[in-house]
Amino acid sequence: MKNCLVLITVLCLFSGTALADSEVNIYSARKENLIKPLLEQFTSETGIKVNLVAGKASALLKRLQVEGRNTPADLFLTADAGRLHVAKQAGLLQPVESKILSDAIPAHLRDKENQWFGLSRRARVIIYSKQRVKPDMLSTYEDLVNPKWKGKICIRSSGNIYNQSLLASMVAHQGKAAAQKWAAGVVANMARPPRGNDRAQVKAVAIGECDIAVVNSYYLGNMRTSSDQSERDAAAKVALFFPNQNDRGTHINISGAGITKYASNRGNARKLLEFMVDDKAQKWYADSNHEYPVKAGIEVSPVVKAWGYPFKEDNLDMGKLGRYNVTAVKIFDRVGWR
Ligand code: FE
Repeated sequence: MKNCLVLITVLCLFSGTALADSEVNIYSARKENLIKPLLEQFTSETGIKVNLVAGKASALLKRLQVEGRNTPADLFLTADAGRLHVAKQAGLLQPVESKILSDAIPAHLRDKENQWFGLSRRARVIIYSKQRVKPDMLSTYEDLVNPKWKGKICIRSSGNIYNQSLLASMVAHQGKAAAQKWAAGVVANMARPPRGNDRAQVKAVAIGECDIAVVNSYYLGNMRTSSDQSERDAAAKVALFFPNQNDRGTHINISGAGITKYASNRGNARKLLEFMVDDKAQKWYADSNHEYPVKAGIEVSPVVKAWGYPFKEDNLDMGKLGRYNVTAVKIFDRVGWR
């Protein structure tokens, strides 16, 4: 009887190991429907089961912190370099050396210490009313403080990480004082106190509440191809402008991921990261949400292509978006950007 129990225990241990070997657990701040088909493809190619917990980035970060060594998460997936930086600074990630990742992802789109990796690029652009604005009136982010835009700009709140990263990029390029002057100037030109998400800014331009807005380009792509007629109508009334084409280029951010410090399926997590930069995955990843691939030579979606591609991109090291995040948040507070 005793032997029998030992045998059962051993069998259980083995099956436990086998299970752990063939799975990977993700905490994802990206919407489930945006990555699910890709993860299913990964499972069918590798036999590795993917368990996905989707949630808000801040909540998932907190959860990783609270769980510590007991976390089931192997991979943390999120949109915005600022959040990946926060995860790294909090000691929640670990380095991974991979030639596949470093060959596929340009150096400025991944962490210098290999703790996080950009998986798609996004551009924060200017959207303008086709009716009321001529594209030659537009030029740079800096020009948004021009008095000609008084009462004409819509942009979301400063609590939003995309705006924090945009301002962080200005701190990196021009210093704190200039960035603060710029933020104050944008506040002075706002058509309304910030409210709503990026799509809401596009809609506000479409109904004439403002003439221009600053948004991530994929929102416009998703509105253009939306099943919701009102979103398609709004998107048809606006056009997209890439700022700063004659100097540093348009502000770029990333969605990306890092392996958690206490990952128990480290090898599988690494396989999944590598899978996400292969040509097929990059194409799908970019297509499905109208983003830009991180890997060179991958085509963008037809909607994205029509906006003009390639365009001049700001090649700022993404780590700086994280490094200057706190400065950016303080500036927003100081200038009263809600
Ligand atoms: Fe987004």
